Amino acid sequence: MKILVINCGSSSLKYQLFDMTNETVLGKGLVERIGIEGSLLTQNVNGEKYTVEAEMKDHKAAMKHVFDALLHPEKGLISSLDEINAIGHRVLHGGEELTDSIIIDEHVKDVIKEYIKFGPLHNPANLMGIEACEALVPGKPNVAVFDTSFHQTMPASSYMYGLPYEYYEKYRIRKFGFHGTSHKYITRRTAELLNKPLDEINIITVHLGNGSSLAAVKNGKCYDTSMGLTPLEGLVMGTRCGDLDPTVLTFIMEEEGMKPHDLNQMLNKKSGFLGISGLSSDARDLENAADEGNQRAKLALDMFVNRTKRYLGGYLLELKKVDAICFAGGIGENSAEMRERLVGGLEFFGIKLDAEKNKTRSEAKISADDSKVQIWVVPTNEELMIARDTLDLVK
Ligand code: ADP
Repeated sequence: MKILVINCGSSSLKYQLFDMTNETVLGKGLVERIGIEGSLLTQNVNGEKYTVEAEMKDHKAAMKHVFDALLHPEKGLISSLDEINAIGHRVLHGGEELTDSIIIDEHVKDVIKEYIKFGPLHNPANLMGIEACEALVPGKPNVAVFDTSFHQTMPASSYMYGLPYEYYEKYRIRKFGFHGTSHKYITRRTAELLNKPLDEINIITVHLGNGSSLAAVKNGKCYDTSMGLTPLEGLVMGTRCGDLDPTVLTFIMEEEGMKPHDLNQMLNKKSGFLGISGLSSDARDLENAADEGNQRAKLALDMFVNRTKRYLGGYLLELKKVDAICFAGGIGENSAEMRERLVGGLEFFGIKLDAEKNKTRSEAKISADDSKVQIWVVPTNEELMIARDTLDLVK
């Protein structure tokens, strides 16, 4: 059983082809600059690169090049499109209607369209990827896997905002949460690692990358998460601001004469690490600059630690009993220093990091044996989770 996993961004398209008999990645690729001059496809099979430079004016054109690359006689992976059994699509926002992965039909596409209102950058691109696959390989099952669905088990006390109730009723203004596929993967994997039934684990999943979020997982289900109506809420991220007093926004709009679209761009693309440091959105760049004495780079990292600790502490109290804190994402998996800053020195709370074990960059328990709460690095694998959900639905 071969499953193609597609992840469309506004001007990019990532793909992986899985052989699900043994859950191996046969090959993967990336198309960049879709709709912009200089579109480029890079495919990687067994470490060998194959690139295509061609005009790709939209996602359908890009998808056509992806299938051509997959079928390439020497550099490809398959000899016929019939070898692909199903296609799994990462979709940002499924709203309240789509609470689990689902085979795509007209209704599913309508819901994805409806939630363009809360995912204006991602949902249109996700939809274009789906429609391109439907047009280019008709008859194949396409499955949507939503970033929001893992979080749909949150109680209303976690997901409601303190606004007049009518805005929830009229527009579904509420916390949805994102990175759900990653939090779900980490949760399932942690249950295996702890050798406990899924519905008996209480954990805090900490996904720290360009975008960052935490989830409080109670009895294997999401109880709370840091991202909100959109991925903007919560931590200070690469280019996103995270939590703010909402008055800041009305003040800036008035003072600067800023329109909602420009405000959104500023909050999503020019804030966070980039906006604070004035230097870079990349955590490693900030660590290097901070080491050389750059005070604003240091401030951005200090703020990241401060915000992440607020959520960690809050979730520990919400869950009452916590089996494990699990780190994932580019920062969570690779930065021992950041993990040390976040969960080091918490012996008072029964949380004991082992400095030596913390040096890992792969899956490992990094807490001391007598720590009441285990600490783990659990590298995430969103693509595999999408392939698994797709397989479950089509087999
Ligand atoms: P995305 O959210 O786009 O998937 P990643 O999960 O790959 O991103 O995370 C990217 C972030 O991880 C960047 O800020 C990068 O600097 C950071 N990162 C990667 N390796 C390290 C490291 N060794 N130390 C600190 N940060 C790292």
